Amino acid sequence: MTSQYDLLLTGVGLANGLLALRLKACRPDLHVLLLDADAQAGGNHTWCFHEEDLSADQHSWIAPLVVHRWPHYEVRFPQLNRQLDSGYCCITSVRFNEVLRDTLGDRLRLNQTVASCGTNHAQLASGEVLRARTVIDGRGYQPDAALQIGFQAFVGQEWTLSQPHQLTGPILMDATVDQQGGYRFVYTLPLTPMRLLIEDTHYIDDASLAAVQARQNICDYAARQGWQLETLEREERGALPITLAGDFNRFWQNRQACVGLRGGLFHPTTGYSLPLAAALADALVAEGDFFPETLVSRIHQFAQAAWRRQGFFRMLNRMLFLAGDADRRWRVMQRFYRLSEGLIARFYAGRLTLADRARILSGKPPIPALAALRAILAHPSGRRPSQ
Ligand SMILES: Cc1cc2nc3c(=O)[nH]c(=O)nc-3n(C[C@H](O)[C@H](O)[C@H](O)COP(=O)(O)OP(=O)(O)OC[C@H]3O[C@@H](n4cnc5c(N)ncnc54)[C@H](O)[C@@H]3O)c2cc1C
Repeated sequence: MTSQYDLLLTGVGLANGLLALRLKACRPDLHVLLLDADAQAGGNHTWCFHEEDLSADQHSWIAPLVVHRWPHYEVRFPQLNRQLDSGYCCITSVRFNEVLRDTLGDRLRLNQTVASCGTNHAQLASGEVLRARTVIDGRGYQPDAALQIGFQAFVGQEWTLSQPHQLTGPILMDATVDQQGGYRFVYTLPLTPMRLLIEDTHYIDDASLAAVQARQNICDYAARQGWQLETLEREERGALPITLAGDFNRFWQNRQACVGLRGGLFHPTTGYSLPLAAALADALVAEGDFFPETLVSRIHQFAQAAWRRQGFFRMLNRMLFLAGDADRRWRVMQRFYRLSEGLIARFYAGRLTLADRARILSGKPPIPALAALRAILAHPSGRRPSQ
């Protein structure tokens, strides 16, 4: 049967959205269709990234999506307050949706739930079947027994204040708050002088963050900062996977071309996926001879290389989640934030050097050595984790 499309992108979230923008710019000849169940592309998110996460070229193509930029950010811990002079950028899903609609026109079909998809076809909930040379599945995170995960769970609220907040940059982590049984911090983005996004964030073992408690935490935190909350503008929620260990081959077994969280393409310690999504989009359009049929193996190779690079992060996560008291996990992060700005930037970009790794592990550990060793060796199946 002949294909109607070169590429069918199912799920128009961050990963497929960025890929579609790159394809439109670099391969406008391809016949691409995007499908999403929602009424707008990108759902309800505020996506941030560190300036060092992207190359100069990536910054220029992603620029139309960026709504806020700050030249610095700060972190707060019980024994450390630090401002880092590293840029931080923010994309809103509202802007993302606008840019995708303008750029892709009728290549973007919204309110289309994909009931099932295979390598060359997608079936919609309506029964309609669409055929393509290749289908790329970007329908978001799907739990998989091949990965052992913890969670970064949060509730974020965007508030208009009755007085200016006076912040000049984001507070990426304020961990001076009551820890409530995990590693907890508050994340604040100053969107305008009168508007803040405040997120109550918990690194916890399961995804069951009580939203009512988190909302109360946000109000209590704002009161302590002296911010007078006036109007709640919107709320976003997440429970992002934090990888502790896993079996890459089992995860990819029988998997078609998957991108974004569905393809395991996220930072193991933060669950953030924007830098990898941008890098994958670039990698896929870079090839001179572009054949949709080769994308499955190219995405697999990209994911395999990312998985290998991320072994060190999974080990750190096991130390964060499995060693020491949950209420004292903040000590690991406080110690980390005493390291050099360059190392911290490379950590978030997922590009640690060997010297960075040695530096992170050197010195007096913030958790007992034996517990840390047990955590490093821990693996759900009793086998050594694949690195
Ligand atoms: C609230 C929130 C804030 C986050 N903030 C950041 C951040 O600041 N920086 C960062 O890098 N990461 C962030 N993340 C983590 C991660 O990068 C995001 O979850 C990111 O959106 C994942 O991209 P994705 O393309 O894999 O999936 P998504 O962006 O979640 O997209 C999946 C898409 O698939 C669609 N879909 C699902 N099922 C179907 C179906 N059956 N048929 C058709 N369509 C379907 C959905 O409607 C959705 O549009 C955040 C996550 C959340 C939840």
